[in-house]
Amino acid sequence: ELGMPSVGGSVLLADPRGYCAGVDRAVITVEKALDLYGAPVYVRKQIVHNKHVVHNLAARGAIFVEELDEVPAGSTVVFSAHGVSPAVHAQAAERDLKTIDATCPLVTKVHHEAKRFAKEDYRILLIGHAGHEEVEGTAGEAPEHITLVEHPDDVDALEFEEGTRLSWLSQTTLSVDETMETVRRLREKFPQLEDPPSDDICYATQNRQVAVKEIAKDAELVIVVGSANSSNSVRLVEVALEGGAHAAYRIDDISEIDDAWLEGVSTVGVTSGASVPDDLVQDVLAYLAERGIGDARAIRTAEESLMFALPPELRRDLKAAG
Ligand code: SF4
Repeated sequence: ELGMPSVGGSVLLADPRGYCAGVDRAVITVEKALDLYGAPVYVRKQIVHNKHVVHNLAARGAIFVEELDEVPAGSTVVFSAHGVSPAVHAQAAERDLKTIDATCPLVTKVHHEAKRFAKEDYRILLIGHAGHEEVEGTAGEAPEHITLVEHPDDVDALEFEEGTRLSWLSQTTLSVDETMETVRRLREKFPQLEDPPSDDICYATQNRQVAVKEIAKDAELVIVVGSANSSNSVRLVEVALEGGAHAAYRIDDISEIDDAWLEGVSTVGVTSGASVPDDLVQDVLAYLAERGIGDARAIRTAEESLMFALPPELRRDLKAAG
C-alpha cells in the first residue's frame, strides 16, 4: 500500500517512563480534594504539565486558575506539583483561602536549599528555564540572591565581585548531561563554586533519560508522549536525539502522529514524561500495532518504588471525615 510503513517492525518501550511519585501524589490530591470538599476545588496553575490530566480533572469539577486573585475568598485551592513562592502563600493567607500544597517534596527540598544558601549570603546560580513555574517558585524563596543560568553558554557573561560566595541549584527536570556541562563551565570560571548537598535533578527525570538513551541506540524513531509545556518530556526528545535516534517527536496523544514518520522505520522507541498517564502510551502501542509495528518489548533500566504521602493538611481532613 502506498505510504504504509514496513510491516514487521518492533517497539522498544522505555521503563521507567510516565508518572513519577510527585505527579501521582499531586493528581490524587486533587481527586481526593474533590471527593472530600465537593466541586469546585480551585487549582493554581496546571496541577501537572499534562493537557489530558488537566482536562480530566476539570471535567470532575476542578477549576484551574493562573493566579489567586481569580479564586473567590474562602475557597479551597490546591498548589501545583511545581511549587509556589512564599509570596503566593502570603497572598493565600491574605485572601482567606484554604490551601492544600501539592508541591512535590523533591521541589520543596530545592526551596530549602535556596533558603539555606541565601541565609549564608551565597549568590545562588539557579540552572533552569526562565518562566517555568518551578523556577519562579524556587527563585521566589531568595530573589535577591538568585541568578538564573539557562544554558551552558550563559556562563561566559557572568561576573561577580571578588570574594563572592557561589553555589548552584537546579530545576528538577533538566537534561542531566547539559546541566553537568553548565556546572563544569561554572566551576572552570569560578573555582570557589560550592555544590548543593545533593543534585536537584530528580530521580524520575534521571531514570527516564537513562531509559530513553538506552532505547534510542537501537530505534530509528522515538516517540515521546508528553505536553509541550512539560520540561522533562521536552528533554526526553533531546536526549533521544543525542542518544542516536534518527528522529524523535513529542506528541500529546496519537492524534498527533504523522504516518510519514514511520516510513522505512523498523524499530520505534516509545516513552513518556513524568506527568503522562500510561493509557496514552498504550494508545500509541495499539496505533503502531495496527500498522504492523506490533512486537513491543520493555527495556527496563531502573526499578522505581518511591511513593510520597499525601499533603498533611489533606490527610488531616480525610481522617477527620472518617
Ligand atoms: Fe517531583 Fe521529579 Fe516528579 Fe517533578 S518530576 S514531580 S520533582 S518526582
